[in-house]
This record gives sequence, C-alpha cells and structure tokens, in this order.
Amino acid sequence: MDNSRLSIDFASFAQVVREFIRAIGQRRTYNLFKNWYCFFGILWGIPIPFVTLGIDLFSSGLNVTLTNIKHLASIHPFQIIFLLHPLFFGVVFGAMGTIRQTKQQKIEEFEKNLIKKNLELELVNKKLKELDRLKSNFLSMVSHELRTPLTTIQGYISFLISEKSGSLNPGQKECLRLSEESAIHLNHLIEELLDLSKIEAGEFKVNLRPVDILEVAEKAKASLQILANEQGITLENSLPKGLPLVLADAERILQVITNLLENAIKFNRAGGKVSIAADTSTQNEKIVFCILDTGIGITQDKLDRIFDKFYQVDSSGKRKYGGCGLGLTISKRILEMHHGRIWVESTVAKGSKFYFELLTLNKNANS
Ligand code: ADP
Repeated sequence: MDNSRLSIDFASFAQVVREFIRAIGQRRTYNLFKNWYCFFGILWGIPIPFVTLGIDLFSSGLNVTLTNIKHLASIHPFQIIFLLHPLFFGVVFGAMGTIRQTKQQKIEEFEKNLIKKNLELELVNKKLKELDRLKSNFLSMVSHELRTPLTTIQGYISFLISEKSGSLNPGQKECLRLSEESAIHLNHLIEELLDLSKIEAGEFKVNLRPVDILEVAEKAKASLQILANEQGITLENSLPKGLPLVLADAERILQVITNLLENAIKFNRAGGKVSIAADTSTQNEKIVFCILDTGIGITQDKLDRIFDKFYQVDSSGKRKYGGCGLGLTISKRILEMHHGRIWVESTVAKGSKFYFELLTLNKNANS
C-alpha cells in the first residue's frame, strides 16, 4: 500500500501559512485595481451580512426597517462580524491573488532565465561543433600531409637496405634498421589518426564477409612474434580448430586483434604470457574471443575510460609505453560496426582480459 497517500503533509501546510502571512503584509493584497482577487472577494462576501440580518429579522418576526436592524444590532453585537465579512473575504482572496502573482512572476523570471541559458548553451554548442569540425579537418589534413613524405622515406630506407645502391657495413645496416622501425611506428600512428578522422567524419566503413578467425589470429600473431620475442613474452594462439566462420571485415578484425595483442605485449613484463582464446560454449549467434595477458593490469576506475579517444592510463611525460591512446577507441568502433562489442576485466599486477564478440555465420545463414 502506498503510505505516502495517508500521511499528512505538514510541511506544505506550513508553507501555505507562511506564504499567506507574507501576502497579508504586502500592499498589493489590498489594491482593488491591481488585484482582482481582492475585488472578487468583496463581491463574494457582500451577501453574507444581508443573509444573516434577514435570517435574524425573520426568526424574530420583525419587518425590515432601519429601527429593527439597529435594534437587532444592539442586542446581537456579534452581528458586526457578519457585517465585516466582505472585508475579510476581500483580504483572504486578495492574499491568494498576491501569492498567485508572486508565483507567476517567479515562473516568468525562471522561464526568461531558462531561455537565456538555452541560447547561451546553443551558442556554445555551435562553437564546439565548429571546433570539432576544424579539429577533424586538421587531423585529416595533417595525417595526409605526414603520410606522403613518410611513404617516400620508407621507400628509400627499403631501397638502401636491399643494397641495390651499394653494399652497407653492419653499422650502416643497424642505423637503417632502426630508422625503418621508427618509420613503421610513425606510419602506425598516422594510420590511427586517419582512422579516427574517418570515424568522426562518418566515412569509416566495413565490408562484412564470412571470415575464418583462426587465419586472422595467426596473421596477427605472426606480425607480432618478433616484438614478443624481444620483450621475452610467450605468445600463444589457443583458438580451437573448427570454429564457426564469423561475419566480419577481415582487415578490420585483424587491426583489432593486432592492437589487442600489441597492448597485451606492451603492457606486460619479461617472462609474461599473452594468448588468444575463444569461448566455444556459447551456442547462440555470437562467439566471444578473449585476449589474455599476465601484464601490469588496469585499476577498476580506469576500465571504462581506456576506450575514450586519446586516453592512456599513464599519460605523464615520463610514461614508458608508446602509443597515442587511439587503438581501443578504433577497436570499439570497429566492433560496433560488426554489431558486436568489446569489454575488459583486469586485476592490477596480475593481468587483463580483453573480450570481444562477433556474429557467427551459421545463425545468419539461417535467418
Ligand atoms: P595506446 O596503446 O596507443 O596507448 P590504446 O587505446 O590501445 O592506446 O590503449 C589505451 C590505454 O589503455 C593504454 O595507454 C593503456 O594505459 C591501457 N591498456 C590497454 N591495453 C592494456 C593492457 N593489456 N594492459 C594494461 N593496460 C592496457
């Protein structure tokens, strides 16, 4: 049962009394020309003295004469209270009118303020949208402008390493190898910036087809094997054979798995382990994949934020891990475009598990 209906709201009663007393003290309450409630109250109260006098005359068997009225008034002095009723009504109604007017004024002021704030908000919103558009244009322009010279640099590095222009001594080769590594890293960052500008411009597209995820995972693992070896990390592909095909854009899912594996290696320690597995127990239309690591982990309060653009748990100038905080944002968007999702579980100093789900083809073929 709803108990609130039975209880008496004394607080609101006290509020009414306070408002009434305040209104009694205001001039507007008694102003017949500015406060129609007061005028209406007086009109409403006028019949009362006539009716009470009439009843008194009638019950005393007297005629309506001024002498009889004076006589009754002298023997019943409380009649004066009835005679004053038009004034009482005028004051009570007038107070109600004042309360109403005060409230109306407050509402109007509030509405005016609201409209003003709304206009300000619209203006700020417009400016923000314009800034966002400028930022997207800037991102796209800078990424394009960086990519063109970088492609030339990478081309010349490859050409020199191939020794077609002359043989190199070991020192020169090492210098070129380091330059090539840095150029690849830079290229990767530019690709991420370009992807982000495409996402923001609504130009990021996926081409969904039947995909063998095992093949994609193997590709990702192969591309990161050297990095894992360098960091002393064991990289495992624990995906079982015979997994159903998934509906995916192979290139984009390769990008997601590569990013997750790269993070799992990057935020790990020497002697750690990284593996990719799948939950085959789910017999429905989706299949869940998991990339596990035994790395540094993430605190609970940061778990949601790591999917925000440019967010890095350690964003200080002294941070020891590279990257620009876009990999997970892009991965999340890619999975959304696959009607899937990505989420994470993590324990600090023990490791993280990044899950993502994709539609399997079996169910889709049936539907
Ligand atoms: P980036 O790796 O370029 O910084 P990401 O978007 O891929 O950007 O990741 C965002 C942040 O999430 C990382 O900077 C890191 O702080 C955290 N993070 C991602 N993966 C892991 C992981 N496996 N273990 C610990 N922290 C991680």
